[in-house]
Amino acid sequence: MSFIEMKQIEKSFEGLPVLKNVSLSMAKGEVVAIIGPSGSGKSTFLRCLGQLEMIDRGTIVVDGTPLVQTTGEGPAVYSDKKTQQQLLLQMGMVFQQFNLFPHMTVWDNILIAPQMVKGMKSSEIAPVAEQLLKKVGLWEKRDVYPAKLSGGQKQRVAIARALAMNPSIMLFDEPTSALDPELTGEVLRTIQQLAEEHMTMIIVTHEMAFARQVADRIIFMADGIIQEEGEPEAIFANPKSPRTKAFLDSML
Ligand code: ADP
Ligand code: MG
Repeated sequence: MSFIEMKQIEKSFEGLPVLKNVSLSMAKGEVVAIIGPSGSGKSTFLRCLGQLEMIDRGTIVVDGTPLVQTTGEGPAVYSDKKTQQQLLLQMGMVFQQFNLFPHMTVWDNILIAPQMVKGMKSSEIAPVAEQLLKKVGLWEKRDVYPAKLSGGQKQRVAIARALAMNPSIMLFDEPTSALDPELTGEVLRTIQQLAEEHMTMIIVTHEMAFARQVADRIIFMADGIIQEEGEPEAIFANPKSPRTKAFLDSML
């Protein structure tokens, strides 16, 4: 059975369709990269899975538990609040903007959510936070405030913070787009490391070389539709759709 099942997702903003029948089925441990031009609906699609947007029609099932379902011609019907919350806890999200709490140290930024949301004691979460900060290479920065960090370091803290909640899937929306080019590598390496540990991930990115290297599957989205999907080598070396080819050429 699929770990993530998103079927025939439809979503409009003010009557304008942004997602037109988009489906994605993912196995546990799979890494999917979503590429495509700006405005094609990539963020909206990710935000629907992360419950930051509500879908109009379609079905989302996570690890066998329905988040939202649609039957017949009716609108999408969401599961109860408790189920929504339980599924939300499984999602780790990292965005272009880091959104760290500026008045908290790196250490407190990592501890706050597990404490507040999960009611964990700091003695429980501290060993996890230490391990995560070491993993992203920022253990030395634990007592520093975000303002003193580079963009790449902030983003690595944001990744550690998301991981501290022990999510079963990580959603990345252009995690390196706000970074100076020389800082993207350290963030991409962190994500690459998660892929090697078989973290289930959906990554929206403009980093084509990275997508090719890290993803098990590439989805090319344009105009609210999945235009083409397949293994990285098939998509990058031999795109079937002229649309995909034109996009990839434009990214060179
Ligand atoms: P992408 O991430 O591929 O650049 P988005 O999902 O951000 O695309 O946006 C897809 C379309 O939906 C765009 O035309 C965008 O302007 C529109 N859109 C996104 N969010 C909103 C919103 N909250 N309200 C109205 N329109 C939106
Ligand atoms: Mg976007």
